[in-house]
Amino acid sequence: WSSETVAMVTGGNKGIGLEIVRRLALEGLTVILTARDETRGLKATQSLHAQGLQNVVFHTLDIGDSESRAQFVEWIQKTYGGLDILVNNAAVFHNDNVYETAVETMKINYRGTVGLTEELLPLFKASQAGARIVTVSSWVGKLMVLNDEQVRKKLTDVTQFDQKYLDELEQKYLEACRAGNGEPNGYTNTAYRFSKVLINSYSRLLALRLANQPSGQQIYLRLVHPGFVRTDIHRKLMNMLDEEAYQKLVASGGFNHEELIGVEEGADTPVWLCLVPAGDQIPSGRLWFKREELSY
Ligand code: NDP
Repeated sequence: WSSETVAMVTGGNKGIGLEIVRRLALEGLTVILTARDETRGLKATQSLHAQGLQNVVFHTLDIGDSESRAQFVEWIQKTYGGLDILVNNAAVFHNDNVYETAVETMKINYRGTVGLTEELLPLFKASQAGARIVTVSSWVGKLMVLNDEQVRKKLTDVTQFDQKYLDELEQKYLEACRAGNGEPNGYTNTAYRFSKVLINSYSRLLALRLANQPSGQQIYLRLVHPGFVRTDIHRKLMNMLDEEAYQKLVASGGFNHEELIGVEEGADTPVWLCLVPAGDQIPSGRLWFKREELSY
């Protein structure tokens, strides 16, 4: 890896994303810190420049906005001729099934991430190390969060569903939210969780699509659960939950307050997956946590 290596991180202005940018920049890569808000993004970039990391470059990118994505893709192609590493980190968190917030969650966490990934696919540079997509997902996107057994069964085997099926699921879920019966309809109890189920499933499909690229043109895709990290997403969760809801979450196996970690630790596995040597044979399409594989 060198300054010729171009990495980009979505939602890089704070939290885990900002720490990923910092760590990749410390390795000497050219790192594009993207943020949907120019002021917040520039402030974060300046804070890294002040630490001597002049190899961090800012560009606005709202992943939920197709026009913003198109402008960004055009810019990165013109400026760098493509990229080597994409870190899909940006996400919003809504811990309910309210229709309006479910629409926003799907637009950003699912459609935004899928849209950006697909639009950047033709721009990945050929290299012996292989290009990298690292998608920061979550433990809460594990299939066990799905209430509908049939859907869960179908999503278990990546050869049994396709992109159309995922898009239809998204639509059915949103319809259920609009009708106010998201949970009974067998999805899951929060838009955030469902968006992570969909993005995990999409990533597994994409890894399969990319599996037979010729040598030197490989694109490795890995998913990561960063751990439960002290960030604004976590703070929002804590503010939303009363004691009963919190205990329910703990009982569901989705959260353990005692495991709360800082961003340095949270960024460790994503950065490792960005930089791991090709020869280490870390398979594509898998979910990682603390540098170890997790099942879906
Ligand atoms: P933060 O809230 O600190 O960071 C989220 C980032 O995403 C912010 O920079 C935010 O920008 C950005 N973002 C939101 N919407 C958009 C958008 N439309 N376009 C571009 N950027 C956007 O949370 P974390 O650092 O915790 O989250 C990072 C990732 O880690 C997420 O994918 C999250 O799901 C995942 N994760 C976090 C866990 C935790 O415990 N913290 C646990 C499991 C997974 P802005 O400042 O403008 O809102």
